[in-house]
Amino acid sequence: MEISGLRVNGKRLQESLEEMAKIGATPAGGVQRLTLSDEDKQARDLFVKWLKEIDLDVTIDEMGSIFGRRPGKNNDLPPVFSGSHIDSQPKGGRFDGILGVMGALEVMRTLHENEVETERPVMIVDWTNEEGSRFAPAMVASGVWAGKLDRDWAYSRTDRNGKVFGEELERIGYKGTVPAKAWPFHAYYELHIEQGPILEGEGKTIGIPKGILCLHWYDIYLEGKANQVGPTPMEGRNDALVAAAEMILAVQSVPARMGGNMVATVGEIQNYPNSRNIIPDGVHFTVDIRSWDDDLALRAWEQLKIDFQAAADRNGCPMRLEETWRVEHTPFAEKLVGFLAQKAEALGYSSHPMVSGAGHDASYMNMLGDAAMIFIPSIGGRSHVEVENSRWEDCAAGADVLLHCVLESANEV
Ligand SMILES: [Zn+2]
Repeated sequence: MEISGLRVNGKRLQESLEEMAKIGATPAGGVQRLTLSDEDKQARDLFVKWLKEIDLDVTIDEMGSIFGRRPGKNNDLPPVFSGSHIDSQPKGGRFDGILGVMGALEVMRTLHENEVETERPVMIVDWTNEEGSRFAPAMVASGVWAGKLDRDWAYSRTDRNGKVFGEELERIGYKGTVPAKAWPFHAYYELHIEQGPILEGEGKTIGIPKGILCLHWYDIYLEGKANQVGPTPMEGRNDALVAAAEMILAVQSVPARMGGNMVATVGEIQNYPNSRNIIPDGVHFTVDIRSWDDDLALRAWEQLKIDFQAAADRNGCPMRLEETWRVEHTPFAEKLVGFLAQKAEALGYSSHPMVSGAGHDASYMNMLGDAAMIFIPSIGGRSHVEVENSRWEDCAAGADVLLHCVLESANEV
């Protein structure tokens, strides 16, 4: 068979996604498969079983990332690889992450059943803890693999219940022995849902992101003075939650004040002691800033520090700021982005150039070598929620583009 005539099996891809969606299924139709949970283990076991069924050589690294390797004609050449993540948000959807893993698996199965020989080896990967919602930050295993995060620091991260990452990794049996350390690769592709409304709005099937926005995370801790709310007059209070409220409004307005091209969000807050009749004496909240322009995002943070200080002073609440995590914006490899456009056109799928507002493991891969992503539409633009949904034919279209991009790169010598 001519290679250009190869297509993935859309039905089989759908069945794999449906099978995975049962693991951690929530009543409202989503999944909850938090990283290193029992559900994560169950999904990993199934994934490994599927890899072995098509004779892939399976390895697990020290961070628990799972790799499956299919040899090429020349195994000294750096491989082409593809994947995403199996873990989900709490009450997340059935497509985020898992589509990129099942899509890459469908590519591997298609190569296997058609006995396609490639020049280079082809690999599949499931990266541990992409979501970062149980153990912050996100994209941890790919970050360690890329040499951007420290392995032992990652092991020491704790969840809200005091459970430790390294111990949980061991508990589920996925603390591998292979060093979590990058090896040379020729290309990395990641298929993912768009997680936004643009493709649906444009009526296009394949999204071709030119790259990923920068991602800056901050943590703010405020100290107030607790007191009985009834007898304490309004004047002279040190209400940490009021100070936080003023700061949150400053975050909301900062993109417009900086001239746009940026989003800024407070998504998490803890208030202490969180009682209706005690003036709050402690607040922690997070700030997330994203832009294509790293410098603009940094200047926004400088502005926010001034705003925060003013709010802290007004309310007499000392604050502590932590600069938790920064990933620079990621322009993807132009060559691979070009392949995406070519393959989508050859396969008869409409496509649309865009940027990715969400962070992905592909950010870290792109720092080491050529990487690119393939997006498919999210129905209603919704993601990280149980109603997250995509059309099966779009999943198959994305996997077909992935198949032909992988083949193009894997046959380059
Ligand atoms: Zn994802």
